[in-house]
Amino acid sequence: MIRILAPAKVNLHLEVEGLREDGYHELVTVMATVAGLADEVEVGNGAEAAIELAVEGSSAGVPTDSSNLAWQAADRLRRHVDLDERGVYLRLRKRIPAGGGLGGGSSDAAAVLLALDDLWGLGLGTRGLAPVACSLGSDVVFFLHGGMAVCRGRGELVEPLPDPPEPLALVIHCPPGVTCSTPRVYARWDESSRTPSAAGALDGLVRALAGSDAVGVAERLFNALEEPAFELYPPLGEALDALARTDLLGVRLTGSGACCFGVASNAMAAQRVRNDLVAQGVTGVFVASTAPRGHQA
Ligand code: C5P
Repeated sequence: MIRILAPAKVNLHLEVEGLREDGYHELVTVMATVAGLADEVEVGNGAEAAIELAVEGSSAGVPTDSSNLAWQAADRLRRHVDLDERGVYLRLRKRIPAGGGLGGGSSDAAAVLLALDDLWGLGLGTRGLAPVACSLGSDVVFFLHGGMAVCRGRGELVEPLPDPPEPLALVIHCPPGVTCSTPRVYARWDESSRTPSAAGALDGLVRALAGSDAVGVAERLFNALEEPAFELYPPLGEALDALARTDLLGVRLTGSGACCFGVASNAMAAQRVRNDLVAQGVTGVFVASTAPRGHQA
């Protein structure tokens, strides 16, 4: 039995460069895994040929059958290595809200791939697991790496960034009861024929990250999906405004929503912001920080 953490991610930068012929969108995004908000994934050998899945915790909206990405990860990997008869036992303890743009399902799937690679002694590693990860979803390859990375293509072309000298302190807010459909948000982006708008912002962000410059990072947060998501789901705009009224240095939506996050000057400031929001009756607020590569192991 292997236990592994499957961390959430935030998008510090997300530029959509256009709709591709395969229906996906060409992206340039900077993703960061976080410490402080993660699912726990247990992976073991199960009865022959069966994949058993148990889901516990904050599991609203999380499928418990073969449509769960963790289940599919186990199935695709065993086929990939011609071990179809292997049984797998999976237990997910969910903490990452589903439908929030925090990559919970993708992170669980990557964790299952890494754990089975280990459990079965496959020796595939990040590179060998990447094709299976890619077939599961655009973000799954990133979660094999963890840490921070610039991701291009539909998100599967991952260029790891060095860990910053100091982690960035974050506050994540998931407005209760709101979930976003990623395809709908992208379709809205298409309808409004938006054009790429963050030219040049990426280099500045990467430099600020390398220097653990929280102010510099906060000033350069960018998400091209924010506007279309707010148009489709107005409560998200209100949640972001509530976060923007705190002492956070900068705030953005993550992925296609529904969660938003902000960068704080340090961990104590992040904790203060959370305490203030909780005192105002705001729920779904998490204190987190960017995680170094290898945090999930
Ligand atoms: O790859 P994944 O299955 O996670 O993508 C979910 C949906 O998000 C896709 O079906 C597509 O509608 C949208 N998407 C996109 N362009 C991307 C990534 C995702 O249009 N680069």
